[in-house]
Amino acid sequence: MGIAQLYPLRFDPIYQYRLWGGRRLSGLLSAPLPGDGPIGEAWVLSDRTDHQSLVANGPLKGQTLRQVMEQFGEQLMGKLSSRFHRFPLLLKFLDAHEMLSVQVHPSDAHPDLIPAGDTAKTEAWVVIEAEKGSHIYAGLKPSTTAGNLRQFLADGTVADHLVSIVPKPGDAVFIPAGTVHTLGNDVVVFEVQQNSDLTFRLYDWGHIDPETKEPRPLQVDQAFACIEFGASDSGLVAARVETTVPVEREGLFDCDAFQLWRLLGQDPFPVGERAEPHVLVCIAGEGQVMHNGTPYAVGKGDVWLLPAEAGECAFQPSGEVTLLEIAIP
Ligand SMILES: [Zn+2]
Repeated sequence: MGIAQLYPLRFDPIYQYRLWGGRRLSGLLSAPLPGDGPIGEAWVLSDRTDHQSLVANGPLKGQTLRQVMEQFGEQLMGKLSSRFHRFPLLLKFLDAHEMLSVQVHPSDAHPDLIPAGDTAKTEAWVVIEAEKGSHIYAGLKPSTTAGNLRQFLADGTVADHLVSIVPKPGDAVFIPAGTVHTLGNDVVVFEVQQNSDLTFRLYDWGHIDPETKEPRPLQVDQAFACIEFGASDSGLVAARVETTVPVEREGLFDCDAFQLWRLLGQDPFPVGERAEPHVLVCIAGEGQVMHNGTPYAVGKGDVWLLPAEAGECAFQPSGEVTLLEIAIP
């Protein structure tokens, strides 16, 4: 006999060793970083077969996100339950100490490049921390074509032909599938993306993998097949202020795959929505979500999944809090 009613679910982060990573996530997430090597990613909500998020609270503690979806389909996913049999978003924090490879992800226009069961990958970033030398590249400059891009790769000048952003905390950057992009030099971001692990590397700055003593493999032909040349809505996004009372609610991203708002406030405000799952990510401050009269403590770096059947809940900040709220259209 299972539990009758779902409740707000918190998940443990899954840390990923990456050569380009650092140790900055230790200041953001409460779960201790493993070892002393470079950690590039914390997967904070994942329904990937090889990396399943585990519930960290309540009677379902220890169950995977997939198990909860299978057991509570409609209670968890509401009106989306017949459309999705795995959770459609993958949420991460990235600590890019070095520059990542210049890369691109496929859109749905390239089913030949997407293995069965996987999806296209549109992603977006909210900058959490940045340093003086930090860099984001999001898209090709308009003069870049398939013809001259091959030349820029060959002579190592590709970065000069990408749209360059000097990131600062709070910036929102949209990377639709087909956008050439990278980031690094000590930038920490929150990432929302479609549940996909398909990356094609175009250029790797001449990096040598210290384990193999070789450059990492590139997938230039697949990357070229995916790149959307010409106009795009990639890059910095202007926040749209939707409300200021009782909370400042700004819309940052609104695409076919996800919607994301930033909430800033110190008075109680509503989160979640009837018949839809919403995800809350706390990036500054703390507070609690109320559900059926029970408070659920939300700390910095925490990720909470509000099940569809919980509907709208009250969030009670303890002082100033900044949350990201994510929905699936
Ligand atoms: Zn990417």
